[in-house]
Amino acid sequence: MDFSSLGLSEPIAQAVLEAGYTEPTPVQLAAIPAALAGKDLVVSSRTGSGKTAAFMLPSLQRLTAEPTIKARGPRVLVLTPTRELAVQVTDATKRYGKNLRYAKAVSVVGGMPYPVQNKLLAAPYEILVATPGRLMDQMNRGRIDFSRLEILILDEADRMLDMGFVDDIEAICAKLPASRQTLFFSATLDGQVARMMQRLLKDPERIEI
Ligand code: AMP
Repeated sequence: MDFSSLGLSEPIAQAVLEAGYTEPTPVQLAAIPAALAGKDLVVSSRTGSGKTAAFMLPSLQRLTAEPTIKARGPRVLVLTPTRELAVQVTDATKRYGKNLRYAKAVSVVGGMPYPVQNKLLAAPYEILVATPGRLMDQMNRGRIDFSRLEILILDEADRMLDMGFVDDIEAICAKLPASRQTLFFSATLDGQVARMMQRLLKDPERIEI
């Protein structure tokens, strides 16, 4: 099984090949076709499973189609618990999307000077990778327009809850279009995580690897 037979277009499959991946991992095999079909997903997976490509490759595929709404903000939003993970996701996104014209990724994380971040947000981009606290801050300053947001990804959702981001996540999600697709990744899927899943997802497909 190769990446193009999962439904990914040639420029994306080619970039993945150049990243050195010859075969999809189990989480990629299960999640990519379901995400491409437009379904909400709940995926239990760990770091090292290949989860970043599992959510980012189908999201990049979506970006190969023109947006239906004309606006300037992100089409894809990834929330991560830490700055380090946000940087990793942004770097991976740049690798996987390198052959696409409209797949610019920017990250908005705590600790980054505001003038630098404001400049990034003022230029055109499609993908925003953010930690919840700083994103809330930038939203409250009116710097992010979510009107054309198509896909929301929660990466390591359980860690975000452990770190006390529940209110920020709820407030961010309340500002996103209800028509969005949501991809929810977490090592655990019980307790507080399960309650959040119920609030954020519509009839999700569950993938447990
Ligand atoms: P992740 O779980 O997304 O943090 O990925 C863990 C590591 O596996 C990263 O270094 C990826 O570059 C790598 N990786 C992801 N997918 C594949 C694949 N299909 N084949 C080989 N390596 C992969």
